[in-house]
Amino acid sequence: MSKYFLPLLGCMLIALTGRSQTSCRSFVYRQQQLSAHPELATAMAAVEAFTHRQLKPTTVGVTGVTSGTASNASSTSSLITIPVVVHVIYNTNAENISNQQIESQIAVLNRDYQKLNPDTASIPSYFVSRAANIGMKFILAGIDTNGNVTTGIVRKHTDVKAFTINDDMKSSASGGDDPWNRDDYLNIWVCNLEDGTLGYSSLVGGPGNVDGVVVQYTAFGTTGTAQAPFNLGRTCTHEIGHWFNLIHTWGDADCGDDDVADTPPQSGPTYGDPGGVVVSCNNAPTGNIYMDYMDFTDDMGMHMFTDGQRDRMLALFAPGGPRYPLLSSPAATAPPGEPSVTPASPTLSAPSLYPNPASSYVIINLPDPSEVGALLEVYNQMGQIVMAMRITQSNFQLNTGGLAGGLYFIRLGNSAGQESLKFVKL
Ligand SMILES: [Zn+2]
Repeated sequence: MSKYFLPLLGCMLIALTGRSQTSCRSFVYRQQQLSAHPELATAMAAVEAFTHRQLKPTTVGVTGVTSGTASNASSTSSLITIPVVVHVIYNTNAENISNQQIESQIAVLNRDYQKLNPDTASIPSYFVSRAANIGMKFILAGIDTNGNVTTGIVRKHTDVKAFTINDDMKSSASGGDDPWNRDDYLNIWVCNLEDGTLGYSSLVGGPGNVDGVVVQYTAFGTTGTAQAPFNLGRTCTHEIGHWFNLIHTWGDADCGDDDVADTPPQSGPTYGDPGGVVVSCNNAPTGNIYMDYMDFTDDMGMHMFTDGQRDRMLALFAPGGPRYPLLSSPAATAPPGEPSVTPASPTLSAPSLYPNPASSYVIINLPDPSEVGALLEVYNQMGQIVMAMRITQSNFQLNTGGLAGGLYFIRLGNSAGQESLKFVKL
């Protein structure tokens, strides 16, 4: 902590201003919970011991986790499916965010946890080899705890104008909504958090009645109430990282240990999006890994988890682990007829896009790898080119927020006769 008091006064004011606006409070929450419930330390230590046993090369390892057990994980792909229930706790109409905004967040999670995010292109060359596909698919739960069909979204009006990190949003008795069984669901509460708090996660090994993540309604998803610089859904990506037992990249201490070997030590959180190499804790020449989702960098500056972080997360899914029950969740199947909120299947032979109609963006999937490098052009109904870009990867996001409402055509490829897509901008 001393680092904040060493710089000149002006620098210190900037740092403190940044910190007040950029807050994941998971570490503060952890300290508060351990102080109020000292017995939690034993449960959390047991999770750490379990994790370390899984990561030993001589025991059943992470490979066994992903390819073994699970009906859920071995059906049509090797992805682990995480059924999600989103509790929208609102006092004002603005806080009652749209289904579209929620789906935009689910789409971000699927990109970030499958390394399908287009901004992997921005990972510095010296960290590229460490970027991991976590192999997880997030879906809005198709059935509820009673086995009934659900949207996976619960909306509840509250008299609470702003919540703190005391878990009130997680209980009907205190103006929130009770969690669904954590063995079958990831609970996400979206509400108004005070003091610039962006979100926080419960403790792995903590009690089930508060298990899940909480995200500020202005930092959730990529549309609607989401506000820059936290409007790319990375707050939720980050908090779910904690829910899978990840620690901040600086180990919550000056040059601390996050128990992950391939994240360099660093002196503290990163604010904004610094660019270039930032050296601390003797971590030259690569410097801080501030483009990792577990730093505090602005959404647009975050691009990756590392292999070591993936291994630590997946260890929880080994038999006997805290997240192992999720592998057999009955909610892991989307109801028939529901539109997919995950990236289009790679088995499709034709290019595809979603959502359609679109508002601020469309995700384009190109199964044919030869399309990468080709030109993409967007035409309006008058046949005028309104956007053009070079395709750099097979699954990417096209921002459509600046387009007027209407029908648009996308032409792919450099020559005539190439496939085209169309979409409606709302
Ligand atoms: Zn955090």
